[in-house]
Amino acid sequence: MYHGVTQSSGDAKKERVLHTRVPAVLERELKRFADNLRVPVSNLVRTILEDAVSVADAATENVEERLKKAAKHLEKERERIKKKMEHDPLEGILAFQEVVLAMPARCAKCDKELPRGGKANLAIGESPGHPRRFVCEECLPKAT
Ligand SMILES: [Zn+2]
Repeated sequence: MYHGVTQSSGDAKKERVLHTRVPAVLERELKRFADNLRVPVSNLVRTILEDAVSVADAATENVEERLKKAAKHLEKERERIKKKMEHDPLEGILAFQEVVLAMPARCAKCDKELPRGGKANLAIGESPGHPRRFVCEECLPKAT
């Protein structure tokens, strides 16, 4: 399996896309963890890598080694990584557009079930690769 991972190198604004192979077992573990946190796998991988880089200067290791090493510690690091990933689920969202759902979805914020045929608010992210998200009426940002 290949994951597209963006990693900042030197210049923080300059992001590169890296591809790495991960063993199937690791893939399952990462996927399970990501599902658990309700974040895209690539975000999780990115967080783990950033974390690994910040812990030690791993300039001599390649991404795959780093990822494998990090994954070994996944079990005990779970809580810490989870905390790192727990940011506002609506981060990076520019706008919401009211839509009628053609298939059931869940609110990205409160996890409420949004039925097919019901109204939901489609989150429009700042980048085209942004995962698709909906929020319920109550979780829409309110003008104050
Ligand atoms: Zn909600």
